[in-house]
Amino acid sequence: MTKTLLLLPGDGIGPEVTAQAARVVDRLNTHHGLDVTTATARFGGAAIDADGVPLTAETLAQAKASDAVLMGAVGGPQWAKQAYDKRPEAGLLALRAGMNVFANLRPAKCFAALADASSLKREIVDGLDILFVRELTGGVYFGEPRGIEDLGNGERRGVNTHVYTSSEIRRVARVAFDLAKHRSGRVASAEKANVMEAGLLWREEVQALRDADYPHIELTHILADNAAMQLVKAPRQFDIILTDNLFGDILSDAAAMLTGSLGMLPSAALGEAGTPGLYEPIHGSAPDIAGQGVANPCASILSLAMGLRYSLGRPDLADAVESAVAAALDGGARTRDIGGMLATAAMADAVLAHL
Ligand code: NAD
Repeated sequence: MTKTLLLLPGDGIGPEVTAQAARVVDRLNTHHGLDVTTATARFGGAAIDADGVPLTAETLAQAKASDAVLMGAVGGPQWAKQAYDKRPEAGLLALRAGMNVFANLRPAKCFAALADASSLKREIVDGLDILFVRELTGGVYFGEPRGIEDLGNGERRGVNTHVYTSSEIRRVARVAFDLAKHRSGRVASAEKANVMEAGLLWREEVQALRDADYPHIELTHILADNAAMQLVKAPRQFDIILTDNLFGDILSDAAAMLTGSLGMLPSAALGEAGTPGLYEPIHGSAPDIAGQGVANPCASILSLAMGLRYSLGRPDLADAVESAVAAALDGGARTRDIGGMLATAAMADAVLAHL
C-alpha cells in the first residue's frame, strides 16, 4: 500500500539536506520497490514569512494524516528577536505536541570511519551504538506551575515543575522495551530517584512494567549523574538508555559528541502505535553555512532511514540506507564538517552510489 511522507524542509540548511533525502526516496521508489509519495509544506521561519505563523493548521493536519514526517531544521537570526511563541522553534514544539510524539529516539552511533573525529579515543568509541529513548512531551519543560514571579522585596523567583504521571512514564518505557527486543534486550533507565520523588516514581513504574510485561528484558537503573560519567568513561556498556525529558536532553547531546559530528546524527519522535512518526536531524539550521551547499546531508538521510524502519514498514531499506552511508564514509566520502571537501549533493551522490 502506498505510504505518504511529508517533507518540512524549514530554514537555513534544512532545505539543502532534505532535498538530498528526497533524492534517496526517489531512488528507493524507482529501483528498490519502495512505494512512498512525498508532499512538501512550509515550516518554521519560511512559514512565518509566508503565512504569519511557523506551523499552520493545514500543515499540522497534513502531518497527522501522513505516515511519516521528515523535518529539516528551523530557525535563524532573522527571527531570533520575535516573541517566543512567534519564533520558528515554537512551530517545532507545536508540531511535536500536535502529533503527540512522546518518545524521542536518538541513536549515538559511531561509524568506524569517523572514530578518530570523536572527542574520545578510538578504542573507547569504535563500534559505539547507543539508542536513547527520551520522554519528549512531559517533565520539567512542560510542568505547571511555571514562571518568574516578583516577590516584591527586590527578589524574583523562577519556578518550573518536574512532574510525571504513571501513564506518561509507562508509555515511553514500553517504547524502550519494545525496541530492546530487536536489539540486545538491555535497557538502562536513568533518573535521580535518590533526590527526586518524580525520579522515584519513574524507577518504580519502569520496573513494574518490566516485571509485568517484559520479563526477558534486562533492566538496570542508573542515576543520571552516574550515567553522564559512564558515558564518557565507558560508553559501550550501554545499549538502550531510557530517560526523562530533561536528563535525556543533556545526556543524549553529550553522547552525540562522542560520535564525531552533528551532521551525522538523526532522530525520531514516535507516538502511539499506528500514528505517524516525526523524523529530523538533531542539528539546527546552521546559518553560518546555509546557502553554500556544503552541509552534510547524512543526518537527514539517516533520519529518513529511521522513518523507513519505524513508520514506512521497510526496515530492510533502512538497513540498506544505513549501510550505504557507512560504505560511503569507508570509501572516503566526507563533507567539510567531517574533514573532507565534498559538497552536499556530492556527499549524497556517494551514498546513492553505494545503495
Ligand atoms: P546548529 O546545529 O544549526 O549549528 C551548530 C554548528 O554545527 C554550526 O557551526 C553548523 O555549521 C554546524 N552544523 C550543523 N549541522 C551541520 C551539517 N548538517 N553539516 C555541517 N555542519 C553542520 O546549531 P546553532 O548554531 O546553535 O543554531 C542555529 C539555529 O538553528 C538557531 O536558530 C537554533 O534555534 C536552530 N536550531 C534548530 C533545531 C531544529 O530545527 N531541530 C535544533 C537546534 C537548533
